Amino acid sequence: MGGSPRAGAWRGAAAPVGGGFPPHPRAAIVSVGDELLLGETVDTNGTWLARQLSDLGFRVVRRWVVGDVPGEIRKGVGEALSTAEVVAVTGGLGPTPDDLTLPTVAGLLGLGLALDTEVLSGLEARFQARGFGVLPEEAKAMARVPEGARVLANTRGSAPGLALESGGGTVCVLLPGVPAEMKGIFRDEVAPLLRARFSSRLEPVSHRVIHTTGIPESLLAREVARLELPADPTVSMAFLPDLRGVRLRLTARGRPGDPGVQEALDRFEERLEPAVARFRYRSQVGDLAESLGQALLIRNQTLATAESCTGGLIAKRMTDHPGSSRYFLGGVVAYANPVKEALLGVDPVLLEEKGAVSREVAEAMASGVAARFGASAGLGITGVAGPGGGTELKPVGTVWIALSVGGAVVSRREFFTGPREDVRERGAQAAMALLLRELEGTEP
Ligand code: ATP
Ligand code: MG
Repeated sequence: MGGSPRAGAWRGAAAPVGGGFPPHPRAAIVSVGDELLLGETVDTNGTWLARQLSDLGFRVVRRWVVGDVPGEIRKGVGEALSTAEVVAVTGGLGPTPDDLTLPTVAGLLGLGLALDTEVLSGLEARFQARGFGVLPEEAKAMARVPEGARVLANTRGSAPGLALESGGGTVCVLLPGVPAEMKGIFRDEVAPLLRARFSSRLEPVSHRVIHTTGIPESLLAREVARLELPADPTVSMAFLPDLRGVRLRLTARGRPGDPGVQEALDRFEERLEPAVARFRYRSQVGDLAESLGQALLIRNQTLATAESCTGGLIAKRMTDHPGSSRYFLGGVVAYANPVKEALLGVDPVLLEEKGAVSREVAEAMASGVAARFGASAGLGITGVAGPGGGTELKPVGTVWIALSVGGAVVSRREFFTGPREDVRERGAQAAMALLLRELEGTEP
């Protein structure tokens, strides 16, 4: 079969280069589907698989996104197979005419397809159990299996996954596109298979995330650069900004829990501390609201919120955490001025003279809600989320945040960029951060 160019793609990938595989096995991912290229569907399967394969200890070297077109699928999978020892393909395994992954990949590898009676009876049983009667002819395509392939049971759907292994050790797995099915098959079947095949060569990496908020990425990078950290070949660092702040992800080679790995991460984190201390928050789930909740709890304090431009976002995030009634009493979404007056006691004269987006109104909202809810802390937030409503003095993105604690009030003006959703998200985060920093200044 040496003369066949298709089989060559398969064998080429399998052949060890220079007498042996590099120590760290490489993986690649091909996501198949026109909807991914049209931008209708986000390729979450690709990111999920990348994460899983990395966590297993593979080095994910590349991802392809291709349409439901045989030529493109062939090119993508062919390139993937010449790049990596493990190739995961997701999408296009179903029964409809646009599902072309299976025959295309089988063709690429020079493998014939044969009806698998066991898979077929499984499909028939599933179809009947759901009350649809006799399995339609088209659906039988899902029971066609390439010669030598291993069938990966799909307990959540119809089309099974398939694992194709070359003699040289390359593994190509085909998975359905439906995320829940793809994930189920990967966890139940693919992960154990890959662990068994590559066990000794897998090199997992361990991550630690340091969460910061209230400082832009560039300034945080400058703070870190000022530390002039000694080169550390064992730990690498990435800046990951989003609307809520910047995460610093530290990565060390080795299994999570290995003493050496922990030590390396601890050392790196300690060195970073002077740059990040003023901005960081600690949270298991990566949410500032969790961190704030803990800070309130250990100080026996309670919070009430008065939200205008964030429309209840802070209350939502505080109550995302179970047990939050111990420290979060409740909030008022005071969007219209009459509600600010009636429910929070904001003076109509202030609203008239200073405007709804002003220091005075934010402060009155904070102290009003704290008093009315009997909370030790009150947060008030009012701003111009946009897209309309901005003026020269108060452009879109202007947000006033106020905090009332034990009768004392502090407030701050922020100018946020981005569309309405961004302004709201940033505003909620900044308000919670204001209270967290204030609490951190007091002994628990
Ligand atoms: P099935 O065997 O269940 O028919 P399939 O392999 O044919 O699955 P597709 O038809 O490609 O899968 O996709 C099914 C659904 O899964 C679609 O709603 C699609 O948007 C979603 N999906 C497909 N690929 C991805 C992806 N890479 N990331 C996220 N969602 C995806
Ligand atoms: Mg599809």
